[in-house]
Amino acid sequence: MAYDSQEMVKKIFNQNSARVDTNKGEEFYNNLFEKTKARLSKLRKQPALKDIDIIDIVESEGVNRRDFMKWASATTATLMLPPMFTPLVAEAAELMNRVPVIWIELQDCAGNSEALLRSSAPTVDSLIFDVLSLEFHETIMAASGHQADAQLEDAVEHFKGKYLLFVEGSIPTAMNGQYGTIGASGETFQEHLMRLSKDAGAVIAVGACATFGGVPAAAPNPTGAVGVMDLVKGKPVINIPACPANPANMVGVVLHYILTGQVPELDSLLRPKFAFGYRIHDNCERRAHFDAGEYVEEWGDEGAKNNWCLYKMGCKGPMTFNNCSIIRYNEGTNWPIGVGRGCIGCSEPDFWDKYAYERPMADAHIKAPTGGVEKTVDEFGLGLLTATTIGIGVHAVASAVIGKRSINNGESEDE
Ligand code: SF4
Ligand code: SF4
Repeated sequence: MAYDSQEMVKKIFNQNSARVDTNKGEEFYNNLFEKTKARLSKLRKQPALKDIDIIDIVESEGVNRRDFMKWASATTATLMLPPMFTPLVAEAAELMNRVPVIWIELQDCAGNSEALLRSSAPTVDSLIFDVLSLEFHETIMAASGHQADAQLEDAVEHFKGKYLLFVEGSIPTAMNGQYGTIGASGETFQEHLMRLSKDAGAVIAVGACATFGGVPAAAPNPTGAVGVMDLVKGKPVINIPACPANPANMVGVVLHYILTGQVPELDSLLRPKFAFGYRIHDNCERRAHFDAGEYVEEWGDEGAKNNWCLYKMGCKGPMTFNNCSIIRYNEGTNWPIGVGRGCIGCSEPDFWDKYAYERPMADAHIKAPTGGVEKTVDEFGLGLLTATTIGIGVHAVASAVIGKRSINNGESEDE
């Protein structure tokens, strides 16, 4: 099995370990450590909902205990916890079979489920979902029709107040929600979501559609599609956006819940800060080319061949918060900018209308990245695109005339 290479685990660890919040101090983490230990020991006394062992599973896929601990170490760093938490993260993974999960699909393409389940070679992250007590997932469960309905009702009744409700897909609200119904009763997606979220411990919206409406909500939004947080109130809602949501972030949220019994720290868009506190532009491997004014000017030019910055081809990395530049996709193999395609801001609200086109934003102005990765969406604020100390557009234009490198007739030369 192609397990995350040592190099990748090291890279994740190095890039994330710098993010432990040192302002919180030793005492904070010592207290958290003790509380977490007590919580795990309580959880261990509860009966497992599923007779399955994470170590058996990962070993059957060729991952040894040492590799598993490396994964735990990288995941600890991803969760912005100090290394002392690594054994607790490993233990929390073993206790995942105590957590009941109900997963529903609404107006969606099942891309998030696919991202999780269809990896060419399973990672520890994807294997961990085998350990969770997945009580209902209509795409992968054997039951269908009335049997599936009954299974869902049983799970809701049995795990009232305790289950995590994962929601994939947006919710159509136009025409009284009639654009999407489920089951023989004709319950609308909206009614379905409201009923199931009422008894959930927390609701986790995965993917661009469930979080902010995604492509179904793009103009003119004929179905009146909205995200979970627009409808579910009075209940913890966690958004894990992107198209698709990264399996590592889904696992991270569940692990955090097991470790602390609480939802992770969220930004103003209800996204976990451990995953969406990163601005793509600050962690991009092409960033040195942006700073040097070296841009791809058209597909296939010398800049493209030399992996220069994609800003002029419409990359929205400077406006987008996500850790895909660090943890990447497809078992950590690569990510969109790595393969030469600009970011289209899929983890941001209204991305399809606001960001998904191949030209720079005409009015894009952005603060100089003085804070590096420490800048979060909250710090930049929702006025990100107008608050400015250095205009990114100005930078891009100026670079072409002030002695930076430019590309002429396929040849690179200094002006
Ligand atoms: S504009 Fe895009 S390609 Fe260029 S450095 Fe920023 S994120 Fe990377
Ligand atoms: S690079 Fe941008 S569009 Fe691509 S997955 Fe990351 S956030 Fe989404």
